[in-house]
Amino acid sequence: MGSCEHLLVTAEADALTPEGCQECLNLGMHWVHLRKCLTCGHIGCCDSSPGKHATAHYKETSHPVVRSYEPGENWRWCYLDQRLGQ
Ligand SMILES: [Zn+2]
Ligand SMILES: [Zn+2]
Ligand SMILES: [Zn+2]
Repeated sequence: MGSCEHLLVTAEADALTPEGCQECLNLGMHWVHLRKCLTCGHIGCCDSSPGKHATAHYKETSHPVVRSYEPGENWRWCYLDQRLGQ
């Protein structure tokens, strides 16, 4: 398994909806944890949340990398390569 170039990208878009998951806010749903798309700044909820909107966003847009949007957490996840990084 080679290295994942997506996790090496340091540029990061500003959060579009810093107040929470974009879809959950629209639908009046609740989330557990938040993830931020580095490509466009979309805020989505994690797979432990009912909406799973971060994964839905990846499936819709193919934007490969999200990072945790939780205070004190800074790990990243590449959907394309299924790899965790910093
Ligand atoms: Zn990757
Ligand atoms: Zn959501
Ligand atoms: Zn995105």
